[in-house]
Amino acid sequence: MNRNIAIDGPAGAGKSTIARRVAERLGFVYVDTGAMYRAIGIYMLDHGVGKEDKEAVGQALEEISIELRYVDGQQQVLLNGVLLGDRLRSEEAGMAASDFAPLPMVREKLLKLQQDLAAKMDVVMDGRDIGTKVLPDAACKIYLTASSRERAQRRFLELKEKGQTADLDQIEQDIKARDEQDMNREVSPLRQAEDAVLVDTSRMGIEEVTERILEIAANGS
Ligand code: C5P
Repeated sequence: MNRNIAIDGPAGAGKSTIARRVAERLGFVYVDTGAMYRAIGIYMLDHGVGKEDKEAVGQALEEISIELRYVDGQQQVLLNGVLLGDRLRSEEAGMAASDFAPLPMVREKLLKLQQDLAAKMDVVMDGRDIGTKVLPDAACKIYLTASSRERAQRRFLELKEKGQTADLDQIEQDIKARDEQDMNREVSPLRQAEDAVLVDTSRMGIEEVTERILEIAANGS
């Protein structure tokens, strides 16, 4: 029986933190699809491939192999055999991912990889089009969101904790620009699936959100 859980939502809504915790609690595998798009974005950046140059993008996609590994329940992403570290989480990688994500050939490559994973095991999969496109028959669909200010604030604190300096207004602007791009693209735009349950985490803590999602997964609402 399909028990897969799909979690979609805008940048910085806490999808990965929550999805990882929900997966842990249920004994499912957490699949972070954003990391796959980020890996492609990094490759394109490092090889100077522009998103307008369809031929170069097609050629690059043929050269790219993305492998996912799970170590102690954590997803690791290997790009052509090389483990991607901290750079995967940078805003540079997020924006590069968002730049290439609208291209149908990029999405096709990753769609199959994602659907194959979900067919093999119980997953909590997060992204932008999981409930609408990748796993339309998921047993449970969640649309996780929070105000852009709140999302920027969380990112700001995260960076501060790592000892990095950051500008809150700039972070909020980056988040809004990425949402705008993800929501308004033609192919697989970010939107709430009709049968997804909306969870606004603006005033909720991590534990509370995790419990809420476990409740939705168990009861359907
Ligand atoms: O979730 P994350 O911030 O890691 O995603 C990076 C970018 O990858 C998103 O802004 C989006 O453009 C793209 N993405 C997507 N579809 C997914 C997951 C991510 O288009 N399922």
